[in-house]
Amino acid sequence: MCDASSRSPIEAPPTWKPLDLSAFAPESMLEAKRTVIEKPRYPVIDMHAHMSFSAHVVNGVHLGPERQYLGTADEMIPVMDRKDVRVINNLTAGYEAGLDDALAKFDDKYPGRFCAFTEPIYAGFLESDYPERQARAIEDAKRKGAKGLKLLKTLGLFLRERITEGELVKIDDPRFDPMWETCAALNMPVGIHVSDPIAFFRPTDRFNERYEELNNHPDWSFHGPGFPSNEELLAARDRVFARHPRTQFIALHVGNFAENLDHVAASLDRFPNMTVDIAARISELGRQPRASRRFFEKYQDRILFGTDAFPHSPDYPQQLFCDELYDIYYRFLETDDENFDYAPAPIPPQGRWKISGIHLPDSILKKVYHENSERVLGLKI
Ligand SMILES: [Zn+2]
Repeated sequence: MCDASSRSPIEAPPTWKPLDLSAFAPESMLEAKRTVIEKPRYPVIDMHAHMSFSAHVVNGVHLGPERQYLGTADEMIPVMDRKDVRVINNLTAGYEAGLDDALAKFDDKYPGRFCAFTEPIYAGFLESDYPERQARAIEDAKRKGAKGLKLLKTLGLFLRERITEGELVKIDDPRFDPMWETCAALNMPVGIHVSDPIAFFRPTDRFNERYEELNNHPDWSFHGPGFPSNEELLAARDRVFARHPRTQFIALHVGNFAENLDHVAASLDRFPNMTVDIAARISELGRQPRASRRFFEKYQDRILFGTDAFPHSPDYPQQLFCDELYDIYYRFLETDDENFDYAPAPIPPQGRWKISGIHLPDSILKKVYHENSERVLGLKI
């Protein structure tokens, strides 16, 4: 691979008229088949959504139980009914009083239609008995109704020795061992987000395939000193998977390496306690439809449907909770349509390309849409 400095400069012909990249919005002239999937072939569990977040975030670390809400159950249910989404999992339901509140607003209000994951209490990280307290907090969350534990990329990229300052804490830090083991003992799956798209670890320059996204969100870049590499993060994650074989890990976002399905496949082969979801990664999967189809065939029992939906999030069109979000996922999974947008946005938000469907057979669709999540989450729809 050549590095940026060795690549040739642009030599513009004399007739060349500069065009601002942000103004470039080419309309495809391709006449391609467009299949509209009103309802999915089988009912759906969306195992990856966010209806609430911590109300207090410092240097990327969520602190305190209070929640802020992105949407309401009342406004979500009609979309879920239209798109046959039977259950939505709120991965960031928090803990203690925040979890109580999130459960009351969703799970209790529409029984059977929502479920929730708890989260680590990083605010308590400096307490001398943090490992045991954290383990007890997981037990408490389970008693309240949490189905699993979710880790944002905070661990590995933001949590530091003095919580918001100091050295970064590694994903395989032994202070979290009782937390992983308690999840195993209580049969609570762990949804874990480690690292981020590989382009976020590269310079934000004209060679970066996600230049516009990084230019719009400079804080999403993990390039440069002070950040571990993608390889280091995934290696630390793998050490956790190996050390806690009884704990079920859902490696979110296609194991956070959808750009390299061979790598994800190798991890799945190595760790029987690992599954993946597809949330916010159909952009990656759909630009390699034949490799993706083979991946789904081989790992059909270990792939969970998820969208990473946020209600009311116009800044993230690929994750905006609405009918069209589900339409696109269903089209990707069910059809052989080619060259379509992976997000309802004039400019593709996760890189300038389009996707093609992978046309899964019914037997695999059923597993991906709900059977795998039923098994992993301990649900029945
Ligand atoms: Zn998410």
